[in-house]
Amino acid sequence: MTILTDTYRRARKSWRCYECPRRVQVGESYHLQTVAESGSVSTYRTCEQCQVLRGILAADFDFGFAEEGFLLDECLRDWAETRGLSAMRVYAWWRRQWRDRHGVRLPVERLHTLLPDEVLALAA
Ligand SMILES: [Zn+2]
Repeated sequence: MTILTDTYRRARKSWRCYECPRRVQVGESYHLQTVAESGSVSTYRTCEQCQVLRGILAADFDFGFAEEGFLLDECLRDWAETRGLSAMRVYAWWRRQWRDRHGVRLPVERLHTLLPDEVLALAA
């Protein structure tokens, strides 16, 4: 596997997030990665919130996310159950594609405040 592109972009059109999978709106920042593997190129676009969550989980050694690099529902739920209430809240936000019941998107800055202290300490 070869990573061809690994960068942040501002959306000029609406993309589907590979992880949650909500639609990234025009003007939002997202993470873009293109990967060459077995003769084909894959493109992965990830919303800011999922990218933050990926970073946290990659730094949380007990969960070995660094190898896969992608969020899987089952793994994420295991992580949340192990890390406690605030992690469960983050998991619930992820399941709802980062939107509250009125459809308002969770700002990335708020996501940081929701993360459990012990998890933030791991990622520091
Ligand atoms: Zn996402």
